[in-house]
Amino acid sequence: RAKATHGVQLCQYEYGMDEVARKRRSMAADLRDAIAANDLSLAYQVQRSLVTNEVTGYEALARWHHPVAGWIAPQEFISVAEESGCIIELGDCVLRRACREAVLWPEPYRVAVNLSPVQLTRPILATTVAEILLETGLPPSRLELEITETALIADKASALHILRQIKAMGVSIAIDDFGTGYSSLETLHSFPFDKIKIDRSFVMESDRSEQARAIIRAVIALGSTIGMPVLAEGVETEAQLEMLRSEGCSEAQGFLLGRPSLSGPVLNEQIRTLQVVANSS
Ligand code: C2E
Ligand code: MG
Ligand code: MG
Ligand code: MG
Repeated sequence: RAKATHGVQLCQYEYGMDEVARKRRSMAADLRDAIAANDLSLAYQVQRSLVTNEVTGYEALARWHHPVAGWIAPQEFISVAEESGCIIELGDCVLRRACREAVLWPEPYRVAVNLSPVQLTRPILATTVAEILLETGLPPSRLELEITETALIADKASALHILRQIKAMGVSIAIDDFGTGYSSLETLHSFPFDKIKIDRSFVMESDRSEQARAIIRAVIALGSTIGMPVLAEGVETEAQLEMLRSEGCSEAQGFLLGRPSLSGPVLNEQIRTLQVVANSS
């Protein structure tokens, strides 16, 4: 196959592309069905304060178990959803479910929900957020929306307008995967963020790379100068956690602190309650 002549390779390449497009179309159709049937689930990953060690909230991460293909990575189905347009339904569905579940959590915990750039191109988003908050009864201060830098670039003025409306309700906005987009500082300057989430690639490199540590330090300093807390993603080791704490990072999230879990905080609380009951009897 690989040793084929140039012409044949080109043919196979085109066939391959066709096959990829076909698979994505069929995945999009299945995804639409799954959304309509409310078949997506949410995994929750804990976020902790590095100052008090307290849980500050949980990030909601979409999960899809395909009836034939099994679990599909969010990176894959989110991009299919964006391409095919059903990201709007998916986004609404994730937001509604996250708010409905978060209202049952212990009082101070916030829920962080990822937004797609595509959702930010639709002025109706602000109304949808308001409706979902009203319908679920979640106080706006307990909702945080995460937006990646690339999300904001297409129509900046319109995205800014939508974000300002959402912020005015008391919902907070975090810039996700900070440092990996191509205009981080400009984005940070133009949009009303409440928190910086430094991308996990810097945290991962930090064990081996002084430069990665220097970048983390600089982002934390930047955050503190402009009054924005910094959360570090992808913390996997005690060494990373210690480094972040000593650099003055505000919050952390990562496998060390907790893997994304389908049961989420409600079940954890129930288990704790059961343990307390068991221990006291
Ligand atoms: P993200 O928002 O940056 O989410 C964090 C990702 O890092 C999650 O992957 C999480 O499982 C992973 N992660 C957390 N801690 C660690 C760690 O210590 N080590 C490593 N190696 N990874 C860690 P996941 O769940 O596969 O999600 C990937 C991306 O998919 C998310 O990145 C987000 O951009 C997107 N995504 C997930 N759910 C949604 C959603 O409901 N809506 C939208 N628009 N995007 C979503
Ligand atoms: Mg995120
Ligand atoms: Mg992230
Ligand atoms: Mg990411």
